Amino acid sequence: MLSFWERESFTEYDFLIIGGGIVGLSTAIELKETHPHTNVAVVERGVFPSGASTRNAGFACFGSLTEVLSDLEKLPEAAVFKLVKRRWDGLQLLRTRLGDEVIDYQNHGGYELLQTESQLGALEQADRVNSLLKPLFEHDVYQNVPEKTPALGFDTNRVKGLVFNQYEAQIHTGKMMKALQRLAMARGIDLLTGTGVRNFVEDNGHVDVKLENGTVLKAGRVGICTNAFTRKLVQEANLKPGRGVVLVTKPVQGLKFKGTFHYDEGYYYFRNYGNRIIFGGGRNLDLEGETTTEFGVPDKILSRLKEDLINLILPGQSYEIEQVWSGIMAFGDTKQPVLRQQSDRVFLGVRLGGMGVAIGSLLGKELAELITQSGNN
Ligand SMILES: Cc1cc2nc3c(=O)[nH]c(=O)nc-3n(C[C@H](O)[C@H](O)[C@H](O)COP(=O)(O)OP(=O)(O)OC[C@H]3O[C@@H](n4cnc5c(N)ncnc54)[C@H](O)[C@@H]3O)c2cc1C
Repeated sequence: MLSFWERESFTEYDFLIIGGGIVGLSTAIELKETHPHTNVAVVERGVFPSGASTRNAGFACFGSLTEVLSDLEKLPEAAVFKLVKRRWDGLQLLRTRLGDEVIDYQNHGGYELLQTESQLGALEQADRVNSLLKPLFEHDVYQNVPEKTPALGFDTNRVKGLVFNQYEAQIHTGKMMKALQRLAMARGIDLLTGTGVRNFVEDNGHVDVKLENGTVLKAGRVGICTNAFTRKLVQEANLKPGRGVVLVTKPVQGLKFKGTFHYDEGYYYFRNYGNRIIFGGGRNLDLEGETTTEFGVPDKILSRLKEDLINLILPGQSYEIEQVWSGIMAFGDTKQPVLRQQSDRVFLGVRLGGMGVAIGSLLGKELAELITQSGNN
């Protein structure tokens, strides 16, 4: 049973955002900045965000050459350009909003490792992709730099092609999320954590949002930013969860590379964090089994990551793993996120895929605009 004071101060909001990841927090911040006299709250089921935003690898990326080529197989050129632009714009918004120092933004560039003949075929299409992206970056994005392979410590018999992207960078994921939370609180947004939303009902000009602990909050409009977990609230949402596994090593003596690295069409990715390695991927080993919202680290995937550490990433060098974890992403038929009005007062900003660090802030801005510009008051 609530007290009079609780009911007066904690249960009624103009805008209520469900999910406290990068999209939820960005949406709430945008709403409060554009509508300062409104009451805004974010409900996050975890004590801290517990999906993908605090569990990723911290790549500030917008697509490797083979990822963009694979997008071009499914979407027209104009749509691929727009998608890359949205990621890039989102990244600039994140950097301006929080500051490079705060999020530990470091631009050492990104590389894609090409290992098979068919992967090497991507090089023939680099000019096409560079021309497509020229209006955005003004310079070539993807450059073939095989001569750099030995200096980075990779075996040239295995890594047969290396594509450099000068615009790719890395961030400290934890610092970014903490800074977003602090900014949200500084703007006067309530962060309600530790209990999730069970369901919601639109009723007579507002939405009743029922929490797992039984409390009912009343909101003028609701933004759903629950990414992979959305189908618990909106069953028909067109997305599938996808688990990702990540590990971090202890500091590696004499680590030869700095930067972000991808291979096998982005299914594997590693980077330096100081002189440690953060390495993730392997979902493609069991795509069906990894279509889950359950956290966990399958042996098969961890074994493959360990093998690749020895044979590909650190040949001839020793390492120790310090920690392994998993996070849950959301995927669809294309890599475009879902941004839509679900009903009169409920709106969705979900399905961020594997590059949400970049596009997350922009999706939050777009969702806030959709929430405030739609018909009802
Ligand atoms: C292992 C891994 C590595 C990745 N690496 C990168 C990378 O290097 N670069 C990159 O750009 N992207 C990366 N990503 C993807 C990126 O992290 C995501 O795209 C992005 O964080 C999605 O943000 P979000 O806010 O939409 O979702 P989330 O961060 O998942 O936020 C959704 C939130 O909703 C909460 N929630 C769910 N249900 C409820 C409910 N009923 N009530 C209340 N709260 C609820 C969850 O607890 C969660 O905190 C990676 C993802 C993973 C899993």
